[in-house]
Amino acid sequence: MDQLKVVLTPITKKVGTQNRVGGVKINIVASGKKVSVVGSKPQPAKLELIEVPKGIDAVTVERVLYALEGTIKSDASSGKEVPQFDAVGKAGKFLVAAPDTDFGVALEFDDGTFTVSKSAGRWLPLPWQSEVDEDKQMEVRARLTVGAEIEADIARNDSFDIPMTHSAVPDEGKNTADTSDYFGVVTVYSKTPAKDAPKLPIPFKGKTLNIYIEKNIGEDTAGYDFKQVTAALTKIFTDVGLTPIKVHEIKYEDTDAQKIWTLRKGEVIAQNVSDPEGKIQPKEGVDIPFFDFWCFTRQFGDPPEDEVAHSEALNPNNQVSVAAVTKRIVAPIMFYTKKGKPYQNVIKKLLNKDDANDFLATVVAHEIGHTLGLRHPLKFDASTGKYGLAPRCGVMAQAGPDDAGRFAARLFGPMHKAYIQKNLPP
Ligand SMILES: [Zn+2]
Repeated sequence: MDQLKVVLTPITKKVGTQNRVGGVKINIVASGKKVSVVGSKPQPAKLELIEVPKGIDAVTVERVLYALEGTIKSDASSGKEVPQFDAVGKAGKFLVAAPDTDFGVALEFDDGTFTVSKSAGRWLPLPWQSEVDEDKQMEVRARLTVGAEIEADIARNDSFDIPMTHSAVPDEGKNTADTSDYFGVVTVYSKTPAKDAPKLPIPFKGKTLNIYIEKNIGEDTAGYDFKQVTAALTKIFTDVGLTPIKVHEIKYEDTDAQKIWTLRKGEVIAQNVSDPEGKIQPKEGVDIPFFDFWCFTRQFGDPPEDEVAHSEALNPNNQVSVAAVTKRIVAPIMFYTKKGKPYQNVIKKLLNKDDANDFLATVVAHEIGHTLGLRHPLKFDASTGKYGLAPRCGVMAQAGPDDAGRFAARLFGPMHKAYIQKNLPP
């Protein structure tokens, strides 16, 4: 009997000895010579992409990730009957996870079989999941429904297997002297701490996460509302188990701040640092609770391109005391909100004013993430085999709006969440 079958072909690029997946090409073929089961009159049809459980956390039942609706018929104009799936005017529907994930693959429809609107979406978001190791893969299968009947079910169609480990990836996509294993699908995260990360684990048990935000940051940022920034930070850190959290709005002149900080050359730094641009001596810096994070803004030299803040600096000789749960701090988190290109480009120009609070909270969380040793996630480009900084959407990705031009508070990506929960045990 003639039957249809959905063919899923991975779009891969070989990097070293590994085939890394960047996308999937979709085709429908007839297993016999005639597509008699479909007929020459268009019938309603639906193509679904379904994640199948394969030993990865969170997935115990099949879940439909994506559905494309249209019509299907057989076409013999080329002398050979081929299926024609017409989805013009119908957008593919993403059914799970989007937009709160940056795992996904490019979707390519065979243009001999499919007619799909440009707006249909060429990206299949895949759910964030963390319990992956070298043996684990994500498995996606297809189901084709014609009329009310399932014409080709997942068991008949190809399986599309996506290995989730990318071995020996250079830090930032370019530092080949500092490589680690990354995990994910196209957007990938390292669980290996950055080279200059403080020694972990440090137990969070019994502690409070304190975040001190200088009022000036708010006053210099349109749309700032302290309560909303606090709510966004609480959401981000509750998600990784760092609760209780207390956010404080402070001034540089406050007594508590003056116990730690001073101003030198326009920058806020720890009081006993003699030369912030020179070599930091072992005793320099102030020992403060490890889970305290201070955020200031001052008008100082031109910040690096497109950066909105820098993370805190610990004394490189004497970073943390695990026993005392303290860190020897040299400089706090600093926001470039005063003036200059980054602020103008990123915070003011790219952002809807209503999103400034979520944006500020996400940047604070990003800089805290760096103290914990988190690296930036990377995006794999299957056309070149190279890695670049991921544009969205985990906390540690680059700053910037989503496809709709909005910025909602982001969460730590699944690998980073697993890293935090392991290294800062509650
Ligand atoms: Zn960063």
